[in-house]
Amino acid sequence: MKAFIIKVIRHYRRALLQGFGDREYSYQRYLAALFGLIGSVIALVMGINSILIDLYVLAGALLAASFLLFLSFSLLISAKYVRYHNMMKYMALTALLSLGVYLIYSGGVSNSGPLWIYIFPSVIFAFCGLKVGIMINLIFSVILMVMLYTPNGYFLATLYPVAFKSRLVLAFLTTVALSAFYEAARHSSYLNMARLKAKFEQESQIDELTRLPNRRGMRKKLRAAYHKAITTNQVFTLAVFDIDHFKNVNDCFGHEIGDEVLKHVSDVLRNGLRKQDVLSRWGGEEFLLLLPDTNGEEAFLLLEEMRKLIAASHYDQANEAITITFSIGYCEMSDAASLSEMIHLADISLYKAKQTGRNKVLAYG
Ligand code: GH3
Ligand code: MG
Ligand code: MG
Repeated sequence: MKAFIIKVIRHYRRALLQGFGDREYSYQRYLAALFGLIGSVIALVMGINSILIDLYVLAGALLAASFLLFLSFSLLISAKYVRYHNMMKYMALTALLSLGVYLIYSGGVSNSGPLWIYIFPSVIFAFCGLKVGIMINLIFSVILMVMLYTPNGYFLATLYPVAFKSRLVLAFLTTVALSAFYEAARHSSYLNMARLKAKFEQESQIDELTRLPNRRGMRKKLRAAYHKAITTNQVFTLAVFDIDHFKNVNDCFGHEIGDEVLKHVSDVLRNGLRKQDVLSRWGGEEFLLLLPDTNGEEAFLLLEEMRKLIAASHYDQANEAITITFSIGYCEMSDAASLSEMIHLADISLYKAKQTGRNKVLAYG
C-alpha cells in the first residue's frame, strides 16, 4: 500500500514538474490540470465540512465536484489520454460552474456560497482563451441574473437581500470585463513573443552577409536530408567549395571588398542551383552544398558547371575585374558511414584539389 501511494505521488509530481510547452494549448491544459487538483482538494475539504454541519445535499454536490475535478486532473496530466484532454478541460469547467450554480441556488453556508463565483472569470479565460472565454462568461452571467431575478425566487432555495443581488451581479460583470482585458493583453504579448522567438530562431540559422543558411542552419537541414535519404532509400551528395587564394583578394582590395566578393560568388552559386539543392556558408570562404537525390556521377557534372560558372564570372571593382575560382571536393552518401564522415571525406577531396592545382572538382577516392 505504502509503495503504491509513493508510486502515485511520484507519477503526479513528475507530470506536474514537467510543466507546459511553449504552445498555448499546453499552457491551457497545464492550468486546467493544476486547477483540477487544487479545486478538488478545496471541494473535498468543504464537502467534509458540510457533512459535519449536516448540510448533506451541499456536501454531495461538493464531493461530486471534487471527484470530477480530480478525474479531469488525472486525465489531463496523462500522456496516454491525450484524446480526452479537451473533453476533460471542459468537464473540469462544467463541474466548477455547476457547483457555482448550486451555491447560488442554495446560498451555501450562511448565504456566502455565491462569493466563489468571482474566481470563475479568470479560470474560464485561462482554460478557454479569449473568444470562447467571453462566450462562457456571458452565458454564466445570464444564468446568474436569471436565477437571481426570476420572480418569486423560483430558482433560489434561499433569500438574498436586493442590495446583495445587484452588488453580486455588477461586481461579477466588472470582474469579467477586467479578466477579459487581462486575457487579451496576455494573449497579444504571447503572440508577440512567439513571433519574436520564431524570427530569432530563423535569423540564428542564416548568415548575415550572404543570407545563405549558416553552419547551424545547415546542420539541421543535413540531418533532415540524411534521415530522408535513409528512409526513402535514395542517395545524396555533399560538396565543399573553398575559394582559391581568397587571402589575396583581401590583401589587394581590403576586407570590405572581400565581403562584396563573397556576396557576389554566393549569388552566382545560388543562380546555378536546382530547386532542391541547398547551399550554405559553412565557414569564412567555404560553402557546403547539399545535392539531394543525386549520385556522385550526376554531382560531378553539376559541380563542374558551377565551377565554370564562377570562373567565367567576375566582380567589378573600380575598372578592375576580380576573378574568383573554387576548389571543390565532394562525397556521395554511399562512400561514407555517417553524415560527419561524408563531410570529412569531402574535405579530404577538397584538400587534394588544392594540392593538385586548385580550380577543380574532385571526388573522394
Ligand atoms: P586557399 O586557396 O588555400 O584556400 O587559399 P586562401 O587564401 O583562400 O585560404 P586561407 O585559409 O589561407 O585564407 C582564407 C581567407 O579568407 C583568410 C580570411 O581573411 C578570409 N576570410 C574568411 N572569412 C572572410 C569574410 O567573411 N570576409 C572577408 N573579407 N574575408 C574572409
Ligand atoms: Mg578555407
Ligand atoms: Mg580558400
